[in-house]
Order: sequence, then C-alpha cells, then structure tokens
Amino acid sequence: MNIDTEYFSCECNNFSHTIRFVLDPDDGDLHLEVQLHMWRSWHKRVWDALKYVFKYPVPYGHYDTTILRREDYGRIRDMLKKSELIQALAVERSTALSGDGVPLEYSSRQDKGKQ
Ligand SMILES: [Zn+2]
Repeated sequence: MNIDTEYFSCECNNFSHTIRFVLDPDDGDLHLEVQLHMWRSWHKRVWDALKYVFKYPVPYGHYDTTILRREDYGRIRDMLKKSELIQALAVERSTALSGDGVPLEYSSRQDKGKQ
C-alpha cells in the first residue's frame, strides 16, 4: 500500500496552520488533517472541552484558518484528481458484471465463501 501524503503550509508560515492531505490508495478517500489550536491555557481548554461535550454554544467555535498558497494549488488539484480516479475505478469494478451476470465484486465474495 502506497499512501500519498502532501503537506501544505499556510500563507502566513505559521507551522501550526500546516495541513496534511492523505490519499488512501485503496478506496480513494482523501483525508484532511489539521492541528487543533492550543493558544489558550490548559484549564481554559478543559473548560472549552466540557462546553463541547454538553453542546454549549461557543461564539466563533473552535476553528482556525489556513490560507492556501497559490503555488500549492496544483498539488491539491493532483491529489483530488487521483482520489476521483481511484473512486471511479472502484465504482467501475463494483458494477462490472461477471460472465454469469452477477456483479464481479459480489461474485468474488461468493467464490470466497465456497472455499
Ligand atoms: Zn496561517
């Protein structure tokens, strides 16, 4: 399994704004990973966590922002194209029919059951 991983720095160069895209070569899922901001003290973060658990609304939520750099657009575009291609191939495989008119994916599962 060859996992495709790309890191993208923020326009402001703050390392904590770096995001990571991970492409799963098996199903084409594209994961976006970000670091949660930790600029508040630990006891305030615990208090925020409790509010989150009990669904207490927090103004502006717990978001941070990453501004993508223009020079990275092509790399993101490439990852999206790969993800789209892998998923399209998976759909094609699952809908392809075996010789007896049964979808190949279903047919191969039936064959495994016979062994
Ligand atoms: Zn930034």
